[in-house]
This record gives sequence, C-alpha cells and structure tokens, in this order.
Amino acid sequence: MDRVKKFIVFTAVFAACLWMTAAAVFAGVVVIDPGHGGPGTEGAGAIYPPYMEKSLTLELATKLRDELAARGVSVYMTRTSDVAMSLPQRASYAKSVGANLLVSIHFNASGPHDKTGCEVWSSMYGNHATVGRECGAQVLSQLTALGLESKGIKSKLGTQGDYFGIIRYGVSMGVPTIIIEHCFIDYPTDRSVLESAGTAGMARADAAGIASFLASGTGQALMNGTLDVSPVAPAPTVSQAGGTVGAGASSTAAAVKLSANFSPADWNWLLSQWAYTGHPQDIIVTVPLSELQALVEEHKKGNI
Ligand SMILES: [Zn+2]
Repeated sequence: MDRVKKFIVFTAVFAACLWMTAAAVFAGVVVIDPGHGGPGTEGAGAIYPPYMEKSLTLELATKLRDELAARGVSVYMTRTSDVAMSLPQRASYAKSVGANLLVSIHFNASGPHDKTGCEVWSSMYGNHATVGRECGAQVLSQLTALGLESKGIKSKLGTQGDYFGIIRYGVSMGVPTIIIEHCFIDYPTDRSVLESAGTAGMARADAAGIASFLASGTGQALMNGTLDVSPVAPAPTVSQAGGTVGAGASSTAAAVKLSANFSPADWNWLLSQWAYTGHPQDIIVTVPLSELQALVEEHKKGNI
C-alpha cells in the first residue's frame, strides 16, 4: 500500500509540475502582415508571372495565421483582403492589438533576375535586434530545410534609423518587427521550391520557426513582458542645419529650390519623414538629392 501511495503522490506531483510548466508558457500575440496590397504596381509588389507578390503574401499569411493559432498563439493579420495599407497603418494596427511581435511577409525579385535565397530583415537596435536575430535564425533554419539558400539575417541603416519602414514604424511603437523575404520569384531554383512546397509549406516553416523562438528564453521574456523592447525613437543620421534665424531662412529658400525635383505628393511625403523634428525643411536640405530620390523610389515600391 505504501508503495502505491508513494506512486500516486509522485504521479500527482509530476503531473502538477507538468501542468505548471505548461501554464508558464506565454503564447503571446503575433501580428502577421501580408506585404503590399491594393491597386497598381505599388500595391502589387514584385511581379513575375504567374506570381504577384501581394497575392502570395496574403495566401501565405493566411496559412501562417492558422498554423500559429493551432499552436495556441493569438494571431492577427494587418489585412485579410487585397487592400492598400500604409506602413504606419500596419504598425499602428499591430500596436493596437497588443502585438508582441510583428512579422511582415514578403517575396523577392531582382532587376537582373539573378538573385536567390531567403532572408530576414531585423531592426538594429537593442532587444529589437536580439528578437530579430533569434527569431530570424529559427525561421531561416526552417526555410532552408525546404531547399532554399539562406542569405542570413540583415539590418540596414537609413536616414532616420532602420531603413525599412515597417521595421522602423514597428520598433518606434515598441513592437519588435521582422520582414521575412521568402524567396526570389524570378529565379528558377527558388520558383521550383515555391512550386513544390507551396505557400502552405512555407507557412508551416515560418510557423515552426516562430514557435521555436516563442518557446525560447528570449521569446518567453518577450511574451511575458520582461524583455525591454521600449520604443526606438527615429534618429536621423544627418546633422541638423544651423539653428539661427538666418540659417532657417536660407534653408527655406534651398528647400523651395530642392522641391522642384519632386512631385508635390512626393515632396510632402519626404517632408513628413522628418515632421517629428518640427523643422523638416532644415533637415531635408542637408540630405543629398540622390538619397532623397532613392527614398522616394523605395517608398513607391512599398518598402518605406
Ligand atoms: Zn515586398
């Protein structure tokens, strides 16, 4: 009898430990952002028949949502149909639903059609970078198992901090954000992986990678709120001009001249990028024209 009692007590304690371990797992809130959407080439993203990026991202994101939800994660999507959404709108939506992590889904293409592989883009700041690096590594290890080459986890500095808009807006609201570029839809090897695995196979790979990350030490700290992912304030790398009344007046004249290189809409968008400083014209005149043109170009592609 004694042995039986001991066994029952042991079993009960063991079961309780298991239950506590399970209960201690924080599933968290993940927002999936199907890149692009809406009319025109800006909304379409990369196009390489028969593939159109905006449709692939929505297809994959919907399957990823179901995969993660089946694992107990609370999942939201920034869009569930073919609609245009600005990058700040996407990040704000993620913030509004309490996202612990924002995952933006994309597919790649290159001008010369000679690039291959999957890659993850991450913020370069503090724990936002840690989350990007660790979650990115898990996702890439799953995607490479499908036969894709890994181009690694990357970050890029722009004039205001992180180069890619969705990452910059996400981390400026305290939401760690990554971009997954799944493969090049204009490269034969990548297309054959996409054809064989399908968006379903890629969604399963993403889900397995994200779930591994969420179960890790960093993932759990992120989900239970003990990892400091404070908002990263946009930080322009260009120095602010002047500061005297005279400099302000001359920068206004220079800004008027500079604005002639852009359509009114593009110019207003450029100014809006530095609006938070309170004196965007003083700053914009210190940025080389070629860099401003490149920013507008990237904005039109939906990257910023
Ligand atoms: Zn894209």
